[in-house]
Amino acid sequence: MTDTIDATVLIVGAGPAGATAAYFLARAGVDVLLVDQATFPRDKACGDSICSGAVEVLEKMGLSDWARLKGYAKNIGYRLSSPNGTMAFIPFPTQFSPYPNYLIPRREFDHTLVQHAVAAGAKLRENTRLTQFERFSPDLVRVSGTEGKTPVSLNAKLVIAADGSISPFSRRLGMVPGPADGLALRQYYRNVSGDPGLFELHWEKSVLPAYGYIFHMNDGIAVVGTGMFSKDQKRLKANIQERLTTFMSQNPYAREVLKNAEAISPVAGHPFRDDAELVKPYANNLMLVGDAAGTGHPMTGEGIGPAMLSAEIAAQTAIAALQKGDLSETGLAPYGQAFHKHFDGLHKISQLARTALTFPWMVDRTIQTCAKDQVFGAAMAGILAGIVSPGEMLKPGMVLKLIAG
Ligand SMILES: Cc1cc2nc3c(=O)[nH]c(=O)nc-3n(C[C@H](O)[C@H](O)[C@H](O)COP(=O)(O)OP(=O)(O)OC[C@H]3O[C@@H](n4cnc5c(N)ncnc54)[C@H](O)[C@@H]3O)c2cc1C
Repeated sequence: MTDTIDATVLIVGAGPAGATAAYFLARAGVDVLLVDQATFPRDKACGDSICSGAVEVLEKMGLSDWARLKGYAKNIGYRLSSPNGTMAFIPFPTQFSPYPNYLIPRREFDHTLVQHAVAAGAKLRENTRLTQFERFSPDLVRVSGTEGKTPVSLNAKLVIAADGSISPFSRRLGMVPGPADGLALRQYYRNVSGDPGLFELHWEKSVLPAYGYIFHMNDGIAVVGTGMFSKDQKRLKANIQERLTTFMSQNPYAREVLKNAEAISPVAGHPFRDDAELVKPYANNLMLVGDAAGTGHPMTGEGIGPAMLSAEIAAQTAIAALQKGDLSETGLAPYGQAFHKHFDGLHKISQLARTALTFPWMVDRTIQTCAKDQVFGAAMAGILAGIVSPGEMLKPGMVLKLIAG
C-alpha cells in the first residue's frame, strides 16, 4: 500500500454536518477533503425547516445574510391541532433567540453549504461512495469504496463520518446501538393556501402517535410530511405512506389548505436517528457527526441544527488534536465530552416529552393550554423551534397550567 496522504482530514458525507465540519476545518487552514456519493446540487428528503440553532451556526459561517437576502420564508408561527380538533395558533417566539427559522429547500441549502466549504479551501470529491475504514498507524487511516463503478481508496490522518442516519461507518464499527429507529416522509405541493412561513402540525387521530405537518414556503408551495418510529410502526402494522395520504385526506385543516393542491414531487423518505446519548462519537482517528451520531431531536425531528452544531464542535476538537499531534481516542475524547454534555440531557427529556405526546388526551390538553395561555404556548413554540428544552414544561408553573387546562 502507499502511505501518501490524500488529505489531512477526510470527511465522508457532504450534508449539513459534513459541509459544516469541512468549512470550519478549512477556515482554520486544515487540508480537508469532502467526499459524497452524490453530485451537488442534490435533493434530500426533509421538511426543509432550518431552525434557529442551524441559523446560529450559519451566522458563525458567515452565511446568515445569504439566507436572509434570498428571501426564504421565515417561520411566522405554528398552527397546531389536537386529536379532539382543538386548534391553537402560536406566533413564532422571538423572545428566546435572535435567530429566525427559515424554510429552505435542501437542494439549495446543502449545495450552498458545500460551495461555502469549498470557497473556504476544502477539496470536494463527488460521486464517490466510501464504506470501509482501516487504521494502519496513529496518523494513517484509509477509507475505501467506489467512484462510480471504479474502486477507490483514500488516505488521511483523520476521518469524520458525516454520512447520515444509515452511516456504514458507525454501524460497522459498532459505535451506534443499532439501525436508525425512525422513518420520515415528505412531498412537495403547489397551489397550497396559507401564509408563507406558517408551520402546521396536526396530531390527526388517524396518524397518532405521529403527527402530520404542512410547512408553507413562498409562492403557494408547501412541504407535507409525517414520520414514525419503528416500534410504533411494528405495533400498529402501519404503512407510513398510507398514513401520509390519510392525514391529507382526513385532517380538516390539511384538507382545507390542500384542497386545490397538486403534488410536484414524489413522496421521498429517509431513516431518522436520534440516539446520540447511546453513541460513542469518536474512536482512534475517527469522529462521527450529525445523523451518523444520532443527533436528531427525539421530539421534533429537527436534525439540521444539531448536525451542524456537532460538526462545529468536532472541527474544534480536530483542530486542537491536530495541533497536539494526537488523533488517538484520547486526543479526540474532548469531542465526546462536549457532545454528550450538549445532547444527553436534551435527548432524555425530549424522549420523555415524545412519550407523553403519544397519549391523545395529553395532546388535547397541551394544545388546549397553548390556545388559552400565551406563556405556555410560547414555550411550546420554543420547543418546536428547537430553542427551548422540553424540560421547560416540567417546571411547576407549566405543570399547573397544564393541569388547569
Ligand atoms: C422526511 C424528513 C423530514 C425532515 N425534516 C427536517 C426538518 O424540517 N428540519 C430539520 O432540521 N431536520 C429534518 N429532518 C432531519 C434532517 O434531514 C437530518 O437530520 C439532516 O439531514 C442530518 O444531516 P447530516 O449531514 O448528518 O446527514 P445527511 O443530510 O443525511 O447527509 C449525509 C450525506 O452523506 C452522503 N453519504 C451517505 N453515505 C455515504 C457514503 N457511504 N459515501 C459517501 N457519501 C455518503 C449522502 O449522500 C449525504 O449527502 C428530516 C428528515 C426526514 C427524513
